[in-house]
Amino acid sequence: MESAGKLTVKKKVLKTISGRHPWIFSGAVKEVTKSVAAGGIVDLVDQDGNFLGRGFFNPNSQIAVRILTFDDTDCGINLISERLKQAIDLRKSLPEYELNTAWRLVYAETDFLPGLVVDYYSGYVNMQFHSAGWETIKSDVVKIVAEITECNGIYDGSDPEMRNMEGLDTENATIYGSDPPELISVSEFGRVFKVDIRHGHKSGLYLDQKFNHQDIIRYAKNRKVLDVFSYTGGFGLAALEAGCSSLTCIDISKTIFNLLKDNIESNGYDQASVTLKTGDAFEIMREMVLSGERFDMIILDPPAFCRSKSAVIQACRGYKDINRLAMQLLAPDSVLVSCSCSRPVSDELFVKVLWQASIEAEREAKLLKLAGQSPDHPVLLTFPESKYLKCATLLVH
Ligand code: SAH
Repeated sequence: MESAGKLTVKKKVLKTISGRHPWIFSGAVKEVTKSVAAGGIVDLVDQDGNFLGRGFFNPNSQIAVRILTFDDTDCGINLISERLKQAIDLRKSLPEYELNTAWRLVYAETDFLPGLVVDYYSGYVNMQFHSAGWETIKSDVVKIVAEITECNGIYDGSDPEMRNMEGLDTENATIYGSDPPELISVSEFGRVFKVDIRHGHKSGLYLDQKFNHQDIIRYAKNRKVLDVFSYTGGFGLAALEAGCSSLTCIDISKTIFNLLKDNIESNGYDQASVTLKTGDAFEIMREMVLSGERFDMIILDPPAFCRSKSAVIQACRGYKDINRLAMQLLAPDSVLVSCSCSRPVSDELFVKVLWQASIEAEREAKLLKLAGQSPDHPVLLTFPESKYLKCATLLVH
């Protein structure tokens, strides 16, 4: 694609660009050639006109430019096609690739395809277009993805909220091939999940937790497991596979439990060893503490408690409360797997919160592992925003 114009950046942003961060915020824009429309390509230059990079421009977004290259490379469809191939090859090269039929194939900025997410679910693809740059080349990009993945159909599952921030409307629909079935069966390390890519959370499954689900298998055997914020059983089914002695799942949504029940059944696990509790996790756990119920392993995987830095303190209160409750519910020498997907809460801060929770619960706790997102959601070092998930495994004495 031809570069549509020049964008001069303010001096203050030069350091960010030399650190190869892929965003230019609107406040860092000094001047733009008038002719550049939303989604067009701009050349970034400093005040002396020196070339700094090239990327998608959007005057309607706080992120004015999403940089595609810091070199003088042509940003046409060939570059995009090359990057799509690279991103998909990266996933295919993972040793666990064959064991799973659901993968994040493209993770936006991390794969140098800013604002583009491609998730694969057993022959069907859910694509999300979260920056204006994709609007004019969407049909070509869809064709390339269809060709590389050899999928049956592609659904545009873009998030209206994310697109709204870019000044874009949203139409969720099938954009290639056949309509994905209402429920798609996928395998996660051999465990079968029914996925609703139209109405499910995220693009259907919490693919970012896939490797953390698998990791609990080493601890769950013979334990009485509580899976809090269970969704359709990502952690719970792994606990059943490990041979837990019983499984209790808590989630606020009744509809989600229909899928969870299906998943338990289609994997051949005994429904009798599973208890499902619908309601607010905080309330249910408080009642359990009072009634003296105890577990040998608890998984906490709540939704994000904050999205902005200003809400971090409040969010940490929530994390501390729920982790204190979990520790109170654990028998001596038990395992706690505690997650946070709040981006503004750093690894360090999260561990501090767990420490505070252990003090309040009067329990000694040891951190066995602090994991992050599964490797199909890699963290780009020049883009710290790509890191959000924390998954701590603790031994609670
Ligand atoms: N552990 C799951 C993902 C959990 S996502 C997995 O790995 O697949 C968070 C879940 O928390 C959602 O299913 C949502 O319905 C549920 N939830 C949100 N608020 C809740 C609350 N207050 N109490 C219980 N569940 C809640």
